[in-house]
Amino acid sequence: MAGPGFEIEPWEIFCDFEEQIRPHDGLCAFPDCRAPFRAVKAWQRYCCAECRRADQAEARRVGHMIARPVLIMRETKHAKPRTGGALLNSSARRYVDQVASRWREARTVRAREAEARTLMAPKLSTAAAGERP
Ligand SMILES: [Zn+2]
Repeated sequence: MAGPGFEIEPWEIFCDFEEQIRPHDGLCAFPDCRAPFRAVKAWQRYCCAECRRADQAEARRVGHMIARPVLIMRETKHAKPRTGGALLNSSARRYVDQVASRWREARTVRAREAEARTLMAPKLSTAAAGERP
């Protein structure tokens, strides 16, 4: 992914067991969709490939926003108190927390809106067998 020594499995593999035991709510995981669908595979979280791609693109944008602050957090983790490194660490943590909170809030609002739209005009199930989250 990012060069020698940086070989970590993707989150989907790292959390595979946890994702499989988490009950599926029967709704597409992409917050702008939230269409009800029947998962063909235990790991399926999206109603279709389009929703999976859209959610992954959103995750990439958010990941890009927090990548540098996450690195700074690690680089300055042991900075001495009241130094520039400690201040930078604090700023990086606040930024990452802010991005995570706002992202979750925005997704929750979008999901509520999509679920309301679905109640008004149900989308036809487009469950795609073999669609990987
Ligand atoms: Zn969907």
